[in-house]
Amino acid sequence: MRAVRLEATGKLVMREVDKPAPGPGELLVRIEACGICGTDRHLFLGEFPSHPPVTLGHEFAGIIEAVGPDITGFEPGMRVTGDPNIACGCCAECHNGRVNLCRNLQAIGIHRDGGFADYVILPLKQAFALPSGLDPLHGAFCEPLACCLHGVDLANIRNGASVIVLGGGVTGLLTVQLARLAGATRVLLVTRNADKRALAETLGATASFDPSRTDAVTGITDDGGLLPGGADIVFECAGVAETMRQAPKLARRGGTAIILGVMPQGAKVEIEPFDLLFREVNLVNSFLNPFTHQRAADLIASGAIKVEPLISRRIPLEQAPEAIANPALGGEIRTLVTPNT
Ligand code: NAP
Ligand code: ZN
Repeated sequence: MRAVRLEATGKLVMREVDKPAPGPGELLVRIEACGICGTDRHLFLGEFPSHPPVTLGHEFAGIIEAVGPDITGFEPGMRVTGDPNIACGCCAECHNGRVNLCRNLQAIGIHRDGGFADYVILPLKQAFALPSGLDPLHGAFCEPLACCLHGVDLANIRNGASVIVLGGGVTGLLTVQLARLAGATRVLLVTRNADKRALAETLGATASFDPSRTDAVTGITDDGGLLPGGADIVFECAGVAETMRQAPKLARRGGTAIILGVMPQGAKVEIEPFDLLFREVNLVNSFLNPFTHQRAADLIASGAIKVEPLISRRIPLEQAPEAIANPALGGEIRTLVTPNT
């Protein structure tokens, strides 16, 4: 079979490898779609700890081709999505139910071979069924949605709440939709690209704001702004210093800023403890997808969360190395690699 292998930092190639056979407790899945995420590029560039040689790709779904011995509940022909983050189940954090903080976390597509390939090996406990009638590309959004769901779970959004989402990529556009489903009545998306702002408004954002023209904090929170005094909940979904600084300032008194974006290790951002204290702003971090993958699959399967408009391009496997190595094109949201169609 073919696989896109990270062989060393900066060396990503498609090559023939042996097709794996599922062992006990494992499924062999034929990939239908696998999303290219910013993390894949960080792994390629050596900006994120990588474990070459390994096949990249952690946002995947496909059809079961074969099952290992003693598997029940899954059989060849079923469509599945994979939760790539494998917790050990044995460390102190796992025993506390904090599986996303597992000390021995292994991720499919980072530590072990992933979904930029014709086939992937998926451990049974990481597999979640999808309907046979689902669009074959849509299952690739379960992993990013599951991460956003954790953030929205942490936010405890109440009916009628006001929400600001910073960053109009996949994370931001999924979070806008989840915030509306959770009962927020005002959801403001802040992103520079006009097409993304327009798209957000078709997906449930009640307004959008261009931070490249006017300072977002004053433009939104001042008297006469879109949300004077700030929002109940702010989601940072851009992962850049500017939005990290803005997130707590955009939260209202007693409000909450949820950080989803990833900054480079060692990067520093200024915060103002005085402001956080006297306005009692909660600063909350949301990492990965603990126990949210099933709900993400259900939200996509039911159509409650729209993912079709987030697909910018679909490319064959041989184009994946170049697409991963280069920054996303302007206005692009998600590129899906579709090895088998
Ligand atoms: P993405 O596609 O790069 O989206 C981020 C968007 O932020 C960009 O599309 C950009 O759109 C916007 N942006 C950049 N600078 C901005 C600014 N100054 N103000 C407002 N918007 C700005 O990335 P993604 O896949 O959605 O992921 C977003 C972040 O979440 C990344 O850091 C990613 O690593 C992280 N993430 C975290 C988790 C987790 O578990 N915590 C899970 C998945 C992803 P414009 O050009 O329109 O401004
Ligand atoms: Zn563990």
